[in-house]
Amino acid sequence: MTESAPLDVDLALLGGGGAASLLLAALDRHGVHDLRIAVVDPVRRRGQDRTWAFWGHPGTDLDPLLSASWHQVEVATAARRRVLDLTPLRYAMLRSGPVYDRAAAAERRLDATRIVAPADTVTDDGTRVRVRTGDGRTVRAGWVLDSRPRPPARAGRTTWLQHFRGWWLEADRPVFDPARAVLMDFRTPQPPRGVSFGYVLPVSDRYALVEYTEFSPDLLTDAGYDAALAGYRDLLGLDPAGLRVREVENGVIPMTDAPFPARPSPRVIRLGTAGGATRPSTGFTFSAMYRQADQVARALAAGRPPVPQAAYPRRHRWMDAVALRALDRGGVGGPDFFDRLFDRNPAERVLRFLDGATTPAEEVAIMNSTRLLPMIAATAGDAAHRVRDRLRPTRPAPAVPPAVVGAQPSIRPHGGGAPGPPGSEDDVAAR
Ligand SMILES: Cc1cc2nc3c(=O)[nH]c(=O)nc-3n(C[C@H](O)[C@H](O)[C@H](O)COP(=O)(O)OP(=O)(O)OC[C@H]3O[C@@H](n4cnc5c(N)ncnc54)[C@H](O)[C@@H]3O)c2cc1C
Repeated sequence: MTESAPLDVDLALLGGGGAASLLLAALDRHGVHDLRIAVVDPVRRRGQDRTWAFWGHPGTDLDPLLSASWHQVEVATAARRRVLDLTPLRYAMLRSGPVYDRAAAAERRLDATRIVAPADTVTDDGTRVRVRTGDGRTVRAGWVLDSRPRPPARAGRTTWLQHFRGWWLEADRPVFDPARAVLMDFRTPQPPRGVSFGYVLPVSDRYALVEYTEFSPDLLTDAGYDAALAGYRDLLGLDPAGLRVREVENGVIPMTDAPFPARPSPRVIRLGTAGGATRPSTGFTFSAMYRQADQVARALAAGRPPVPQAAYPRRHRWMDAVALRALDRGGVGGPDFFDRLFDRNPAERVLRFLDGATTPAEEVAIMNSTRLLPMIAATAGDAAHRVRDRLRPTRPAPAVPPAVVGAQPSIRPHGGGAPGPPGSEDDVAAR
């Protein structure tokens, strides 16, 4: 293919990460085999570069790919440990390797063309979209589904990051309870501005992902993450002498009320984090990506344009903006906020709320479980800030910084190799 011979396709997927992998699988599942598809990404994603945790009903096509799932989870604060029964939902862990493998198999069955280069420019004339790639090629597409990472259209009123480091820990003896995951453990020392918590996702009684997470404006240093994670390990009463770190997982996810336009031009649809699938108040993204992949595939299978519903209803984005503001401006303490949510609502309602799937009446109940005065102050502050934003020129949003990639962790892997959890690679993947 040269400049004189553009590649003509019906669908061009720009970015081949989480959102695109779920979309390829959904297209295959819904039998969309008569479209010409191109996938453009400078990287062919494979292996374990992230672990997705999410909740939902069991019995989907993801079930065979899961590493673990739990009907019970714990939420802990300094005052109490609460065990939540999620039935009929369950919390699940999905490693990226099986997701990428399944997408690669779908891509072959869909006979998609893979272009291993960045997509540089995207020009939409309203009837076709012209994509120029970094290696000088041109793709002409009926529709573009764009999940390349990008900053929001303008700065948010609150700009936080969810940033974390996790260790896949292998223990010499049974120390984890595989029957339940720790969803959020707020006993970690709280940062001056922001919220921190640890969590534990056990795959067996000797193997678990243990993470330290912060919701806050700034990243820590490499040593800072290691120290925080070692502190959380000690809080769990785990003896470092009996543990091996088998893999390390780092990440940064935007938590902001800044806008991520889902349809920047008539024939370009943004998916994944770039399209607003990341929930501002939690950083959870997976369920919205999965939902939208299914909607796009169903639409195409029915001969309709590949336009999914908004990742979250508008009123949820407003509630998230208020909650983020209340947390950021110090009106509400993070552990107290989440503790009250789980204390005063059935866990299943809170989780459906976080997926944007509650009714307005349920949302009133959720709002009523938060502290009233700081939330009223945050609501008023948010409204005033919106007015100010309308009156002054748009400020560009800062880019989301890449995750801190550290040296080897302080507990070093040593020799031998018991197999990793289902679907894992047996290597230490410090990124
Ligand atoms: C370590 C980690 C753990 C996470 N865990 C969870 C979790 O437990 N639960 C949850 O709900 N969410 C989680 N997330 C958030 C979210 O689900 C993931 O970030 C998810 O991968 C987002 O999918 P995406 O397609 O938007 O972006 P990505 O998966 O990052 O894919 C973007 C793709 O675009 C490609 N690209 C970049 N530039 C170009 C270009 N110019 N042209 C073409 N392609 C380009 C990249 O190579 C990449 O393949 C996690 C994120 C990280 C980083």
